[in-house]
Amino acid sequence: MREAGTGVLGLFGGTFDPPHIGHLRLAIEAREALDLAEICFVPAGNPPLRDAPQAAAGHRLAMVERAIAGLPGFSVDPGEVLEAAKPSYTVATLERQRRLHGPARPLVVLLGADAFSRLEAWQRWRELFGLAHIAVATRPGHELSVGSGNTTLDNEYLARQGTAADLAAAPAGRIIPFAITALEISATAIRERLARGGNARHLVPDAVLDYIDSHPLYRNPHGH
Ligand code: ATP
Repeated sequence: MREAGTGVLGLFGGTFDPPHIGHLRLAIEAREALDLAEICFVPAGNPPLRDAPQAAAGHRLAMVERAIAGLPGFSVDPGEVLEAAKPSYTVATLERQRRLHGPARPLVVLLGADAFSRLEAWQRWRELFGLAHIAVATRPGHELSVGSGNTTLDNEYLARQGTAADLAAAPAGRIIPFAITALEISATAIRERLARGGNARHLVPDAVLDYIDSHPLYRNPHGH
């Protein structure tokens, strides 16, 4: 047994509008494949690189809390949601997490391959590598499309690529690909399904669906 607060900490950011089974499988499989001590979900307050989320930040935080309830080692960081008036930048979240956990604890940001391929658009993106490792989940149809050395991100990847065993050896700086079960689920498709009166059971955890139904969220009052 590790002491609480030691071992590699995974940080999983997303809009989570709503959180779904694809997100949970990514986190569970990352924990196993990368031997992570804990995983902390970080719902984005106000994500700057995409359209505004449909559900308010407080609802998305509440849904993530319900999605991870009962999963050992999983927690949620409400920091970006509490500051949702400002744009959410991962680099700022990592600076805060780094202050919380000290300079030595290995931190690893978990990303899907689609999110990783757009990393160069992120604020101060090259500073991310000084703050944390990055683990990139690949699945059939969502493979890593870097490695040719043609872009700055490619070159970072070539210089930093490693394996799960490298994570515990340094606090930050490696890029680790890992394969997960292919689940072709997206929050966009779930929102569309709900808006037309469809059923999303087993695409999202039951506790999340109950939350969606009881508020209600995503339902189009003029739909069906
Ligand atoms: P949207 O459809 O609204 O863009 P999304 O389903 O892609 O949402 P996000 O909250 O934007 O979800 O994604 C958070 C992270 O989860 C990203 O790193 C993304 O690559 C990853 N992710 C999303 N869906 C899946 C999935 N089905 N399997 C594995 N990873 C996923």
